[in-house]
Amino acid sequence: MIREPKDIPKLDTLEGDETPNDDNEPRKYSRREVLGVGVGATAGAILGSAIGDWLRSRGSSSNTNNKVENVSSAEMIDGPERSEKEKPHTLSLLVLTDRIGSGDAEKLENMMQIVMARFRKTTGWAPEWRIQTVATMPGETYTREDIKNEVDLSRDMLSEEEKDGTIFGVIFGENVKIDIGSAGGYASPGEGYFTAGLGANTVAHEAGHMLGLNHPGALSTLITDKQDNIVQRCAFGTIQELLKTGAIQQPIYYGKDSGNNSSGNPDQYTVPTTVMGHKTHDISKYSNPIFSPPEMLYLDKSRQAVVIDHHSLPDPDKKITLSLQKGKLFSALVKLPGDHALREVFPWAKYLCFGPTVEGQAGKGGHVPFDDPKAAPEVRMYIVGEKGNDIASLDIGMFNKIGRNEDGYRDNRVALYADEQLDTLVVAGRNEDSNDPYIQFLPLSGEGGRILGDERRRNKERNDMSVSKK
Ligand SMILES: [Zn+2]
Repeated sequence: MIREPKDIPKLDTLEGDETPNDDNEPRKYSRREVLGVGVGATAGAILGSAIGDWLRSRGSSSNTNNKVENVSSAEMIDGPERSEKEKPHTLSLLVLTDRIGSGDAEKLENMMQIVMARFRKTTGWAPEWRIQTVATMPGETYTREDIKNEVDLSRDMLSEEEKDGTIFGVIFGENVKIDIGSAGGYASPGEGYFTAGLGANTVAHEAGHMLGLNHPGALSTLITDKQDNIVQRCAFGTIQELLKTGAIQQPIYYGKDSGNNSSGNPDQYTVPTTVMGHKTHDISKYSNPIFSPPEMLYLDKSRQAVVIDHHSLPDPDKKITLSLQKGKLFSALVKLPGDHALREVFPWAKYLCFGPTVEGQAGKGGHVPFDDPKAAPEVRMYIVGEKGNDIASLDIGMFNKIGRNEDGYRDNRVALYADEQLDTLVVAGRNEDSNDPYIQFLPLSGEGGRILGDERRRNKERNDMSVSKK
């Protein structure tokens, strides 16, 4: 499947922010008051409170929020679970090599410097790691069983204390023959090991499985046919209408490139923001996190999230700033109603997750680490289940990159997501005083509805144009 860049300059903005900001304007009623939904003392308190009040400590002492006592119990709703398991403290790598001096161990050593630095930066996981060389017999083919035997031998040499919390990675050198099926590697978390070739992405991917991550699902408005031709580049609409009309679908894998799956099952490797959807992801770019925002939430409890109930969406003038910088609010989640349309596709869907992402070299700073104040993240959306590691990306309109003006990137908002059941259109913009993006929830019965109409139209125009060109 070919993913084309979605950054279309000039057309990339929503014109005209119509939010009145004048002191002489009459007091604006909250949209819930206007709609007569969920109005009451509690709803009023939620809508009136600073967004900081919603931050809550989620198990880490480092992010205890002082204001948490001010939040009434009605507002304390649960977010997805986050990995409870103690992460492995040691990663023991066995490199299978056909001869000493092949250079495989040196290659692995260099590669692991990058892989582990990327893990530390993205998730905080920083195990001790070591490399041990295992010489194979010339011409010998390693099966899954052989690989497991090597792990068992190595584990037996550890003390009981060390065994607990040590995971193994069996890495096969360049000339080593392996017979493990069609995969380039696999992870067996229950048995405490993974295997992979000498590729940084594959090693990071398998290590991600060891920490509890699954392959991400996806819903996308980029639709291809069985010959991999693009039949729809993009579409915008409420998630309910997109699902109903088939304008958003799970990307299907027809087995064109590789593998043995030509049955038209959902493709598990189309999500570019994570190494768990790794076809398009390159972990060596230190300007990008190696996992998606919901995966980072799952793995790193020091990341802060605000969980919003769908009955109490923020006021339209409330901006929720999301940041990749440690110590700041990282992600906003909306708890979906039980009968939400997304559950027809992903029955486990519990939350919408909005999080900051850096892809390519976003922002004025260009190649700076993703948590550098000079980096200018975009906002992407995901669907998350109760367990926290069931994740799917939600890829809707074409104009989803926050607009840039002449002096850089502080600019107009983009429409990300519209939802009839939540009566909301979510837009993202760039902050005045930092490069961090923010999101806003606009009612479809007001400003959101107007933006929805515009977005629907210009996405359709752009799609008609780019598809008919083919
Ligand atoms: Zn995998």
